[in-house]
Amino acid sequence: MATPADVAEVRSAQRDVVDLALAELARWWREVIAALSGDARAVTAQMEAITGDLVAVYGDAAALIAADWYDELREQAGAPGRFQARMADPAPREQTAAVVRWATVPLFGAQPDPQQALQHLSGGVQRLVLQPARDTIADSVDADPADARWARVPSGATTCAFCRLLASRGAVYHSQETAGGAANEYHGGCDCVPTPIWPGQSEPYDVDALLQEYNAARAKAGGDPKAILAQMRKDLGIN
Ligand SMILES: [Zn+2]
Repeated sequence: MATPADVAEVRSAQRDVVDLALAELARWWREVIAALSGDARAVTAQMEAITGDLVAVYGDAAALIAADWYDELREQAGAPGRFQARMADPAPREQTAAVVRWATVPLFGAQPDPQQALQHLSGGVQRLVLQPARDTIADSVDADPADARWARVPSGATTCAFCRLLASRGAVYHSQETAGGAANEYHGGCDCVPTPIWPGQSEPYDVDALLQEYNAARAKAGGDPKAILAQMRKDLGIN
């Protein structure tokens, strides 16, 4: 069974991959800023290309870590049937390009703000690098003949209301249809770890505590998910 230590270990391996990607991004960022006086369209095209490469290379590394982890946990679980994790593809180029175009808007305003643009882009790269790792877990759970599920396991110092709500469901997620679209959404900077769970196993975090939090907010706010999230943010003093 995945223990909190297992989750922390894979989380730290994934963070190393993200850190390498962000270090490369920051190194290359200085060149981007130096080139800004030139043609904006050319600069953007170059950023799209370089960020696309970065996301593909580090995304593959993150997906490989996730696939190995899945296979290891599956073996530990003694899950029946032969199955190997399916490594997901890196984020599509067009998705990365859209993130670059969004993130770099502050570069081209009346008062260019490179710092804010880099911050946006770093959040986007973090999310895009981890995307194939998360997809690897979700896709493998779907394809696994042993009735696997996955849970969104919170990690790190703080966890936002959106992630807490999804984590409060426990290990229920298996296909995109039954989980609902939101289960597969991650915000930039999110350090939650989708973790596979097999029948008979329990989640490596306190699902009940999160569910109580959610129920308390729901009792005050009513059934609208947006209102519940707002209530959780207010009650818990979180994002
Ligand atoms: Zn999260």
